[in-house]
Amino acid sequence: MAILSNSEISTFKRCRKKWYYAYKEKLKPKIPDAKLMFGNGIHIALAEYYQKYFLFKNVKGDGQNLLLNSFKTWAKNEFKKICLNSNNDPTIVEQTKNLIKKGLKLLKAYYDFSIMNDNFKILKAEKRIKLPIMKNLIFAAKADALIKDDNGLWLMEHKTTYTLDYSSKNLVLDEQATRYLWAFSEYYKKDINGVLYNFLCKTKTPKFKREKVYRTPEFLKEIKSQLLLEFEDMRKPNIYRSPDISCNWSCEFKELCVAELDKSDVEYLKDSLYEKK
Ligand code: SF4
Repeated sequence: MAILSNSEISTFKRCRKKWYYAYKEKLKPKIPDAKLMFGNGIHIALAEYYQKYFLFKNVKGDGQNLLLNSFKTWAKNEFKKICLNSNNDPTIVEQTKNLIKKGLKLLKAYYDFSIMNDNFKILKAEKRIKLPIMKNLIFAAKADALIKDDNGLWLMEHKTTYTLDYSSKNLVLDEQATRYLWAFSEYYKKDINGVLYNFLCKTKTPKFKREKVYRTPEFLKEIKSQLLLEFEDMRKPNIYRSPDISCNWSCEFKELCVAELDKSDVEYLKDSLYEKK
């Protein structure tokens, strides 16, 4: 049985070579990129906050402590790993320390924003589902939260960003959120209005914004057809590169990709920089 995730489809569509490294060779960098990991840490803290504080209300102390302590626990483990794998490289260690400080500042301010603006009920937090979509194929989806307000049901998506310059117009084609919306509507057999984006802007003075984006049932039907076409393409693909400027900051396999083109010692590079997932 094949299990397809949003991240796998997105990687495939971004660059087949990157997809091959990550999902066929199953490689991941030994030293995770602290900047790419930052969003994960914020997500983990928000998941605990909305799950324990809002949904189950089983927290001693206040929500702010919960948010900060979740992030600190996550950061401590990741920091250890980064120091170990980088042989305490001073630049990487300093960069990671600064990101941790930034994360704590962001979450502290988010708590104040959240208690003033969270006028909804959390029905599910950090919910993962597996939806069969055809024989031998399952789509794995995850919602940061399923919420209900005066207008009905919404999927909530947390996004850490550098700007709040997002509007419903430029979010309507966000494939990840739409795939999840479609999957959750099918899974629960319920109409979900759309996505409530929860933006956490990590500038010097943290800022926050919520934006609702509606999707029609027709739009969601199209997403399923498209998903099946994408899956077809992934079965026996030709593997080629799709380089662009973003390779410089968003591809953890750039060194490997360039080494293959240079005909350098690729196996040595794989052993020294990457490990199997
Ligand atoms: S560096 Fe660019 S072209 Fe190379 S694998 Fe990564 S995304 Fe693809």
